[in-house]
Amino acid sequence: MSVALLPLVFLKHILTYCSQIGINLSDPIFRGLHDDRRRHEDDLQHVIQRALGTGVRKMMITGSDLEQSKAAIALAKDYPGLCYATVGVHPCSAKKFETHPGGASDLLNQLRDLAVKGKSDGNVTAFGEIGLDYDRLHYCDKETQIRTFEQQLELAIKLQMPLFLHSRAAAEDFAALLSARLNKLPKRGLVHSFTGTMEEMRHLVSLGFDIGINGCSMKTEENVAVVREVPLERLQIETDGPWCEIRPSHASAKYLTDAPKLPKAVKKEKWSSEYMVKGRNEPCAISQVAYAVAAIKEVSVEEVCEAAFQNSVRMFGLGEGSPLMNGDAHR
Ligand SMILES: [Zn+2]
Repeated sequence: MSVALLPLVFLKHILTYCSQIGINLSDPIFRGLHDDRRRHEDDLQHVIQRALGTGVRKMMITGSDLEQSKAAIALAKDYPGLCYATVGVHPCSAKKFETHPGGASDLLNQLRDLAVKGKSDGNVTAFGEIGLDYDRLHYCDKETQIRTFEQQLELAIKLQMPLFLHSRAAAEDFAALLSARLNKLPKRGLVHSFTGTMEEMRHLVSLGFDIGINGCSMKTEENVAVVREVPLERLQIETDGPWCEIRPSHASAKYLTDAPKLPKAVKKEKWSSEYMVKGRNEPCAISQVAYAVAAIKEVSVEEVCEAAFQNSVRMFGLGEGSPLMNGDAHR
């Protein structure tokens, strides 16, 4: 299926242009399914149009297991030039290596085949989401997380793809596993949804990794102080929708005084195509992330978007120069 997009020229953009890595657009919630129940129409088209209207030019859709990676690739095919996919298994889904019908080696082979094909087709741009999450050990124990992170890192090394990384309450093990393979990972990667300390951020930057900032990365004053110090040349921005929205209680909220208002959000029961859905973060909210980061760093929002865009393209490629985007991305 190929999907027609509104000509960009007719849209009044909130941001001149921006990129957005870390968006879970293959989540059924963007098809109107909340907790497996249909609550409203499939409104993915409207979500994407709102993103375009905000100025979003590139989105990298997160693959969090084999099925979600396939779904992310399908979306990248539906929206060529705009959407790209990652392939990998999230640490919270790492048990799937044990439950997969063909076992861990078959799952790794399938991930490899998907990534190889997607890389050559140009729609898979990173290996991930992989990493460690010690905050949510109820989904998967440490041992399994570490083993499967290492297996996937070895696969990413064979494929020579940049990484899309997740780390929660696991900074030491996370950095150690990456450090042991640094010379085999020349494309490095992005540590998305960063919520670590100043020291952890500086360590990752010194190792050559980029830092992904979304609403979850700016919840507390300590988070905000870290964001202020992320070098612009190593910063990328994301919403991580449908999660990680900026809330009024977050430390970042006071940095939004200059930010344009988002479209109205209504409860899912009152859904209408032109509204956002309460509690479902979506890609057009990247404007809030960009404005908050700009105000925290005391630079212009254009500077933040330009830097993040260039960093995302430098690391992931994102089809820069493809026909649809030719001449548009650098306006
Ligand atoms: Zn994550």
